[in-house]
Formats: sequence, structure tokens, C-alpha cells
Amino acid sequence: MAVDVAVIGAGVVGAACAHALTARGLRVAVIDRSSAASGTSSHCEGNLLVSDKGPGPELDLARHSLALWRQLAPQLADDLGPAVPPVEFEPKGGLVVTITAEGAQPLIDFAAQQRVAGVDARVVSLAQARELEPWLNPDITAAVYYPEDCQVQPTIATEALLAAARRRGAVSYFHHEVTGLITGKDGRVTGVRTDRADIPAASVVLAAGPWTGELATRLGAGVPVWPRRGNVLVTTRMPHSVFHKVYDGDYFGATQSSDAALQTAAVIESTQAGTVLIGSSREQVGFDNSMRVEVYAEMAKKALRVFPFLADAGIMRAYGGFRPFVPDHLPIIGPDARMPGLYHASGHEGAGIGLSVATAELVAAAITADSPRSPLGPIDPAPFAVQRPSLQAYLEEAA
Ligand SMILES: Cc1cc2nc3c(=O)[nH]c(=O)nc-3n(C[C@H](O)[C@H](O)[C@H](O)COP(=O)(O)OP(=O)(O)OC[C@H]3O[C@@H](n4cnc5c(N)ncnc54)[C@H](O)[C@@H]3O)c2cc1C
Repeated sequence: MAVDVAVIGAGVVGAACAHALTARGLRVAVIDRSSAASGTSSHCEGNLLVSDKGPGPELDLARHSLALWRQLAPQLADDLGPAVPPVEFEPKGGLVVTITAEGAQPLIDFAAQQRVAGVDARVVSLAQARELEPWLNPDITAAVYYPEDCQVQPTIATEALLAAARRRGAVSYFHHEVTGLITGKDGRVTGVRTDRADIPAASVVLAAGPWTGELATRLGAGVPVWPRRGNVLVTTRMPHSVFHKVYDGDYFGATQSSDAALQTAAVIESTQAGTVLIGSSREQVGFDNSMRVEVYAEMAKKALRVFPFLADAGIMRAYGGFRPFVPDHLPIIGPDARMPGLYHASGHEGAGIGLSVATAELVAAAITADSPRSPLGPIDPAPFAVQRPSLQAYLEEAA
């Protein structure tokens, strides 16, 4: 069946694109070599954060996304009814702490910069921090409270976005691996080639997460998106003891660094099911998914510095995923001038759940020559353009 748009990848970004495109009345096919949320979107956490982003385009996109998630969470519940579980949207707020004397001032300075950019970042006293999180280490040296931070259950959120798109006519082709693009005589993309069928489409969106770099090269439109491994420990269920998204200020350094070596920082939150998720690590090891004890040990040790009570928690399981990493730390969103009809939507590294919905608005607006729909007003697509200066060297290498 010919469609207006074929979306490659049924992770949160592909699902959000399908949702935004069908909202504009387009016929959409979502193609995945496996099934919905089979990639990173089910091997992650579901934090929707402004707290970890400094002033700049990623923070702007995150603020639009948060505003969109606030609208979408109840709308998805209404559209889908009781048959699809709620996305577990929790506007719980975030608390960023530091344990070291030298970490305190940078945390407070970072919050001041964010406030200038419009983020609600409140430096709180240690007593106030302990009111917010009674089990927090009493030796913390500084804390900043971010009421805007939220959380969703990422796998359910992906499935819900896709289910809502399906109700508006989107078709999914699961277990179809994309092997190439179909192009017309003028070089314009006219569809997608898979190992099972060709799918004609007027436009194609590439949303293959950490596999985008590899696949884009095969499709003749290489972009620098590579895997960056991350791990999470999951405790057994316990009485609700962690009330916000809580993390160590070290996390900023890890998110902004391009270091390939192992980095860990304590990122802790509870889920509605009663488990506590303890993240996280970052390292560039290709698609090696081996579970290394030293990585989990380091994460656990750092989590205990924030919440000593976790020493008594049982670990139920551990998992890891691959963040889609881009060397300049910004996602790649929008049309590819090298191949008319091809649009990119990937490279969100550790923030793809949060950024997915505003990304989808940018993609849908570019395809329909419409404006992105955000409660906060216009979204500037320029910083995320494929052909931006900071990616030029990589694109030339890929040519
Ligand atoms: C440990 C960890 C914690 C994280 N925590 C957070 C967090 O708290 N908040 C947040 O916002 N983000 C977080 N992230 C990042 C987030 O998970 C990702 O940015 C996001 O899931 C990327 O979504 P995606 O749709 O781009 O990719 P994916 O979910 O990986 O989807 C890509 C899809 O493409 C498909 N595909 C690939 N190649 C082909 C092909 N040739 N043909 C057909 N299909 C193909 C795959 O099967 C896959 O389903 C975390 C990541 C990790 C690893």
C-alpha cells in the first residue's frame, strides 16, 4: 500500500512521528525489523528532564516536549481508553544533589544559568532537601529542586503513541528489516525496500535510534549516530521511599562528555510498580551488550552515596541499552538535502523519551510545510539540521 510517509523504526521517536503525522491527516506506515519499542525505548528510563540541560537548543526542545507531554498524557488516555495502560506520566519534579564540597558551587551556578533561560530551578537548603526526600544522605552539600521534571513509563508511552497513530489509520510493518530506499529518476525518495516487501511512500523518516548511523550509511545518507551503552539496576518492590527523580550533579558531566571510556553517575527514581531504578552508565563499546559486574558495582556504590538506605535493597534485575549518540550532543532532525524526500529523526542520546514529541512536531511540520504545534509557540529547527556546521566533517567523510 502506498503511503504519504514511511517511518523507519518503532521506538519512541518513530512512534511519536507517526502520531504527529497522522494528526495532520497523513497516511503513515511504521516499519521495524522487530516490534514496537524493541530497541532502546524499552531499555532505558523514562525521565522527562529540564534539570540536566544547560541553556541552548536541547533545553529549548526539552521545554517544548515537556509542555507537549503534559497535554499528550491525558489525551492518549482519553483516545485509547482502558484497553491500553496509562503512560504513567508523573509530574514528580527532580532533585539534584551533590555530596562533595567542591561540587556545591558548580551546581548552584548551573541552576542560576538555567533560571536565566526560564527553567524553574530552586536552590534549597539541606533541611528542605530532606523534606522532599527524607531518606537522602544527610551529608549532601547542596541541592537544587526542579519542579518541572516529569517521568513516563517509556515502553508504554511508545506503544500508546503508536496505538493512537494506528487508530488514525497508521499501518505497522513489524519484522520487516529495511534494506534500502527506492528512488525516482530525479533522485527523490519514493519508498522503502525491506527484506519482505517494498513500501512506496512520498517521504521517508529515518528513526532507527542507535542503528541510524549504520543504516543511514547503507541507505547512502550517512550521519554520525553511534551507540553509547547505558545500564540500569532495578530493586525489588519496596514501600515508596524515593519521591522525585534524584540524581548526583556528576551526571551533567557524564551527559555532556564525549569520552568513550566508562562514566557513571547516580540517577535514581521509583516507579509506580514500587521498584527503584538505579542508573546509570555511559561508555562507547559498539553494540557489545555484555553485562559487566564492575559497571553495576560502580553504579550501586554511587547510588548509596545519595541514598544510603539502598544498601538494604534487593536487586531484582539489571538491563542495558544503547543511547543514540551524536558527537555534538544534539539530535539530528529534519530534511536531508542530499536525498530529497528523506527526513532524519534520531541521535537523542540519553533524552529521546523526553525529546521525542517535540522532535515529531519538527518532522511533521517539515514534511507538511506546516508549523510545529507546541503550547509554548514556535520551535526553531535550525540547531538540529542535518547539514549543520558541527556535523559537516562527518557528512563529508560519509560522502
Ligand atoms: C540506560 C538508559 C537510560 C535512559 N534513560 C532515559 C531517560 O530517562 N529519559 C530519556 O528521555 N531518555 C533516556 N534514554 C535514552 C532513550 O532511551 C533513547 O534516546 C530513545 O529510546 C531513542 O529512541 P529511538 O526511537 O530513537 O530509538 P529506538 O528505541 O532504539 O528505536 C529504533 C528502532 O529502529 C529499529 N531498526 C533499526 N534498524 C532497522 C532496520 N534496518 N529496519 C527496520 N527497523 C530498524 C529497531 O528495531 C528499533 O525498534 C536512556 C537510554 C539508556 C540506554
